[in-house]
Amino acid sequence: MPNRRPLRIAIIGAGPGGLVLAQLLRDDRDFEVTVYERGALEIKDGPSLTGYRILMTPDLLDSLRKQLPGDVQVLLDKAIALSQPNGNRLGFMDTMCKMICRIDLPLMRNTRSVSRWKLREALLSGAGSGDLRVEFGRVFDSYKMDGCKGIKISFADGESVHCDLLVGADGAGSRVRKQLIPNSSRSSTGVTTIYFKAPFTPETEAMIPWASGIMVKAMAPRRSMVVAYYKDAVKPYGPYDLIQIDPRDSFLMIGMASYTDEFINQSKHPDDMTPEELKDECISRATHWHPLLRALLAITVPSSVFVSHIKTQDPIKLWETPELVTILGDAAHSMTPFLGQGASNAIVDAMTLAEKLKLTKGEDFEQRIIKTRLREYETSMLKRGNAAVKNSLYALDLAFALGNTPWKAWLRNWALLIWDFMMPHPVDVRQQFPGMSIYR
Ligand SMILES: Cc1cc2nc3c(=O)[nH]c(=O)nc-3n(C[C@H](O)[C@H](O)[C@H](O)COP(=O)(O)OP(=O)(O)OC[C@H]3O[C@@H](n4cnc5c(N)ncnc54)[C@H](O)[C@@H]3O)c2cc1C
Repeated sequence: MPNRRPLRIAIIGAGPGGLVLAQLLRDDRDFEVTVYERGALEIKDGPSLTGYRILMTPDLLDSLRKQLPGDVQVLLDKAIALSQPNGNRLGFMDTMCKMICRIDLPLMRNTRSVSRWKLREALLSGAGSGDLRVEFGRVFDSYKMDGCKGIKISFADGESVHCDLLVGADGAGSRVRKQLIPNSSRSSTGVTTIYFKAPFTPETEAMIPWASGIMVKAMAPRRSMVVAYYKDAVKPYGPYDLIQIDPRDSFLMIGMASYTDEFINQSKHPDDMTPEELKDECISRATHWHPLLRALLAITVPSSVFVSHIKTQDPIKLWETPELVTILGDAAHSMTPFLGQGASNAIVDAMTLAEKLKLTKGEDFEQRIIKTRLREYETSMLKRGNAAVKNSLYALDLAFALGNTPWKAWLRNWALLIWDFMMPHPVDVRQQFPGMSIYR
């Protein structure tokens, strides 16, 4: 049945995935795209993942940049952090800052850190002028097929709208997924990470172990600490303010992971702890750790705290009946943050889906053809997404399951040391933090 009016696409969720899809279709008059987001346009300062950073490979950044409208490209470039002069690296250390394994292959060295806050600002470009339609404060509730009117979307406030294609980009707890694939489930890993920001000044920059660029992880049996940062290209250093960090400023990011039921403070659940209690928890865990790691914890800003009880999506199989409803990003494959790949995968999904939808234009948006293109997208999205979920779980296991006893941790560290020994390492980078040594 040919349909010559624009294809009405409703995207639920204005995270990186939903907004990239909307931007890629924004200027194409064959599509009428509206994003429905439960949150507000203005995010008040305070604990919010929007203020942290994501990692992107240069290839992904380049191909995204090329496809985005010009105004978004300009803002996207401003969201990309300065890298270390010789590239970014990842290192695994023990809690006395002895380096165990250095990941500094070219792909890692070229990986870029992107401010989530500024990425969001970039991807919302055009929302004010009406080029991009985003409706905030809209809580998606359910959908149903409504004959020739299309798909009826109902919101929590009782209002409803119609569309031809519904895209669930509504994150890990996706209601769209729950209706589309009712038997899908997510599993708890039993691990909770407490994230804080700390001020980024020339002095605190000098405290980053191994001048890593991307991150270093300090691993203890049953616990780990991650140190990463975002260094703004225009204003590299922020003020030394231990009360509040402006979400636009550069920052250090410090995360402490442990099993949820092994918090030192057992007087209450982590969700009921104040930011100060969470900071005390982190400091208590590090009592016998290297003074550098303790110093980094001491300068964390309580108001920036974000607590994440880490869950992972159980693999999703392609659902039997193709529908004009699909999902992307965390809605389909939420993963542990230990590889920093969730947002990149959501963006790749959005790019793949936009490409497939553009192909349907020449075919008069015939429903059968759209469903075929969606199947192609869903097949590749699930293959890539399920694999990323699996790899991200391995990364968590490296810090936890494989380090659950001192013996296991010792064996794991030796395996990592051998890996480090086998891998080539560039000679042109600063190898150690003063006072730090290689494990062997
Ligand atoms: C602690 C932590 C650290 C992370 N670090 C990294 C990293 O370094 N690198 C990386 O690539 N990834 C990282 N991730 C993962 C990354 O945040 C996600 O993979 C990414 O945000 C997924 O994008 P998305 O657009 O699919 O979903 P989301 O970003 O979750 O966006 C979903 C949107 O949908 C909205 N929404 C939800 N339900 C409804 C509803 N019913 N109605 C309307 N709107 C709704 C939400 O408000 C939200 O805005 C991290 C995740 C966590 C938890």
